[in-house]
Amino acid sequence: MFKNFKLVDKVVYGRGCFSQLDEILSHQRTTNSQGMIFLIDHVFENNVKFLTRIPLKDNDRIIFADVTDEPTTFYVDALVKGIKEYSDQLPDGIIGIGGGSTMDLAKAISLMLTNEGSAADYQGWDLIKKPAIYHVGIPTISGTGAEVSRTTVLSGPVKKLGINSDFTVFNQMILDPELIAEVPNQQRFYTAMDCYIHNVESLTGTYLNEFSRSFGEKSLELCREVFLKEGDKSEKDDKLMMASLFGGLSIAYSQVGVCHALSYGISYVLKLHHGLSNCIVFNQLDEYYHDYVVEFRKIMDYNHITLPTGLTNGLSEDDFEKMTDISLVLEPLWENALGKNWKEKISREKIKNLFKKM
Ligand code: NAD
Ligand code: ZN
Repeated sequence: MFKNFKLVDKVVYGRGCFSQLDEILSHQRTTNSQGMIFLIDHVFENNVKFLTRIPLKDNDRIIFADVTDEPTTFYVDALVKGIKEYSDQLPDGIIGIGGGSTMDLAKAISLMLTNEGSAADYQGWDLIKKPAIYHVGIPTISGTGAEVSRTTVLSGPVKKLGINSDFTVFNQMILDPELIAEVPNQQRFYTAMDCYIHNVESLTGTYLNEFSRSFGEKSLELCREVFLKEGDKSEKDDKLMMASLFGGLSIAYSQVGVCHALSYGISYVLKLHHGLSNCIVFNQLDEYYHDYVVEFRKIMDYNHITLPTGLTNGLSEDDFEKMTDISLVLEPLWENALGKNWKEKISREKIKNLFKKM
């Protein structure tokens, strides 16, 4: 069976296009609802200049997303409960404005407002039964590809796994490179390297096909222009935003690999953010992605980035077991990276030894 990939319904791109949000939402507004909910990354909480640009109407409201930790099923459940208690009517839409964490929360809320139970019940592939309410993704930091993917990555009571479904995909994305201008350098780097690694894992994987190659190669080229060449910062932001989108499109029709599998494990136990944990893992994967790991170190040097080390020192054997369990659940990632007989090529011992170097 060929993948019948669901794309975002509508996309607007360009410097300043965020101003079009009001007009875009006007087509979705109804009279019997609790209005629009703008789920905004808490980094903007005191940013009056930005908040005055949110096109709030009568019943609309802003909820600030606490992204200190990455999204959990518990947090999604709590936000959904609050929205349901606020009014008997559903909102007209959820507008997620922020990084991968906020966009994923917006996706998950929009799904869980129409599907019963806990978000944890739907971690997996195609478990969602009913369409979500209208939801919009507006990135304010680029790299994850969450703006275009069919998943919302959540840590739950027992696993870190996305809610993967066609209903998860945004109805609209708004790509305005002006919104990523103020991201601090280090965070910008870690999130962007998520994109770089998406491309590497897609381009070197056994699931590769021309669809994924076309997007992945272009995205990698853009990453190099942003992080290995001098140039105008605004132009680099334009490029980075497209690199993120193309990286997301590349893995959508292939898969990620060893780095993401291990990264899910280590970030679950150490509560590291995805971009940073990917970088920490990737730096140890010479055996799998040698030339790219060499290039990645060059990119780090060029951008004056030093990774933390010794993070797994002092962890218990149970912690290493847990990290290994979480990594191994992600079978498609291993299969993409190592082929159909991947189980013969990787052992729990080998995984644990890699974790011990981080
Ligand atoms: P993030 O959303 O976790 O945000 C990182 C930090 O950047 C936060 O402190 C945030 O407040 C800050 N920030 C965001 N925008 C800013 C701005 N304009 N100016 C200043 N600070 C800003 O970071 P991320 O790397 O974009 O997302 C990581 C999350 O995305 C993880 O939860 C990961 O699991 C998820 N993810 C999802 C997918 C997907 O396909 N759904 C893919 C990859 C990663
Ligand atoms: Zn990623």
